[in-house]
Amino acid sequence: MNAHAPLGPFDANCGVEIRQERGQRAVFCGLTGIVWLHRKIQDAFFLVVGSRTCAHLIQSAAGVMIFAEPRFATAIIDERDLAGIADMNDELDRVVGRLIERRPEIRLLFLVGSCPSEVIKLDLSRAAQRLSRELSPDVRVLSYSGSGIETTFTQGEDACLASLVPTMPKAAADAEPELLVVGALADVVEDQFARIFAEMGIDRVRFLPARKAGEMPSVGSNTRMLLAQPFLADTARALEERGARRIAAPFPLGAEGTTAWLKAAADAFGVEAPRFEAATAPGLRRAEQALSPYRAMLGGRRVFFFPDSQLEIPLARFLSREMGMDLVEVGTPYLHRSHLADELAWLPPGTRIVEGQSLDEQMDRCRAASPDLTVCGLGLANPLEAEGLATKWSIELLFTPIQGYDQAGDLAELFARPLVRRTRLEV
Ligand code: SF4
Repeated sequence: MNAHAPLGPFDANCGVEIRQERGQRAVFCGLTGIVWLHRKIQDAFFLVVGSRTCAHLIQSAAGVMIFAEPRFATAIIDERDLAGIADMNDELDRVVGRLIERRPEIRLLFLVGSCPSEVIKLDLSRAAQRLSRELSPDVRVLSYSGSGIETTFTQGEDACLASLVPTMPKAAADAEPELLVVGALADVVEDQFARIFAEMGIDRVRFLPARKAGEMPSVGSNTRMLLAQPFLADTARALEERGARRIAAPFPLGAEGTTAWLKAAADAFGVEAPRFEAATAPGLRRAEQALSPYRAMLGGRRVFFFPDSQLEIPLARFLSREMGMDLVEVGTPYLHRSHLADELAWLPPGTRIVEGQSLDEQMDRCRAASPDLTVCGLGLANPLEAEGLATKWSIELLFTPIQGYDQAGDLAELFARPLVRRTRLEV
């Protein structure tokens, strides 16, 4: 245990205080990522190999949406499997065979590992290779782990995208430079960014994941990757191993973050300043207008982040710099120092960042600080609301399109909503 080990300032330039905590955690597991990923890759299917608990989690997490035919399911590991009476691989082959027969439109099947499949050491990567050979060329089968053992919920997306990287075609050595935007974005956001890049003159732009399994982008030494999400450590590493180079940037949240993110790409592709300004000025103006009414509601209010989504640092930067909020504590499950370097440099000096979690101590600090707004997971929100604290579910920030100029107002509104609701109740 290393609870409250003070690490001191991380970077003399940014002057934030980073501490690490190790203890009890309260976060969703990586299975949750399926809820937004299955909407993104339209001909993929996610088969969780897990318990009834996993099936229940994924169904209730997705229960906020209505599906004609969901693109995920759970193959339940039951007592016979656990007792070794049934051969798990035979069972899995049978389930996959039935699934593909019933859903011939599936082109990409993810076998998603869970705590139970890890505990019984079911080798899903070998199962995926075997099934891929059998079902090729119509269906490709990949595997990744969404287990809650040592992972938080956005790491499910990281693991899923990292599993795709070895399947991406190799770009020719002399291929033109190409921009690869990495991280699942809502289609509407992706289209907005594609338009802005085109207006800047960057027309070779691809997105990972692609909307169709057969359209995954190629990768090679011509690839310049721009991360759209701050939780993609494994995916970025896998892409770098295939020759891609990362463009250092903050994340496209808020007017300022979006401009800096686009500017990093523009600089990497040699876009002239006037062309960049012409391409971004209308969006920037719209974002500024949309944000303006929320400054009065959020400015001067105190916000406390529990570690949950790994979006906490960019969100804290947005709330502090653009909305004028005071940061009481910014918890994050994991802090990727280099991917977040630009974000850390933008936080006010002295910001308290806590990496990892020791739940009871953090709850005590939160109660003692009595912030105006607490951003946390679903499991903590109800008890904190019952104690009189206004909360925002961090998972909503993954389900809602929040990146880019035209979503900046929606992003601010997500934080203003609990405060407005509370004011109405008090009235
Ligand atoms: Fe629970 Fe683990 Fe299944 Fe997630 S993967 S629902 S943490 S049992």
